[in-house]
Amino acid sequence: MADYDDDNIFAKILRDEIPSFKVYEDDKTYCFMDIMPRAEGHCLVIPKSPCRNMLDASPTQLADCLATVQKVSNACLRAFGADGITVQQFNEAAGGQEVFHLHYHILPRHEGDKLRP
Ligand code: ADP
Repeated sequence: MADYDDDNIFAKILRDEIPSFKVYEDDKTYCFMDIMPRAEGHCLVIPKSPCRNMLDASPTQLADCLATVQKVSNACLRAFGADGITVQQFNEAAGGQEVFHLHYHILPRHEGDKLRP
């Protein structure tokens, strides 16, 4: 697996080199709206520290991200009146990953809906 490369879009967002719409932030993680939402309220949780994906993440990075995923998911249930939440996470190009900084997709869901492509 390739090393972490800090030229990726999410590293630039963390450095404030490109804009993002902040949803939540703490000292270890950042959550922002996905630019091409596949559901109303689709947002992304990332660690502030460098990490390519789940395969090279430390236990602490995983725990910090999932604590934020849980917090934001519960807020999404209330904010969007969602019935459920889909959490997605891709690893390497073959696994569907396009941006090589660990991230979790939070997708609020409603009964019977379909995710946009
Ligand atoms: P996929 O594109 O297959 O979902 P990833 O899991 O790597 O692969 O997801 C990257 C996500 O980052 C996409 O949902 C995309 O819309 C989102 N994205 C790309 N650039 C930005 C940006 N500048 N701000 C917010 N979200 C972005």
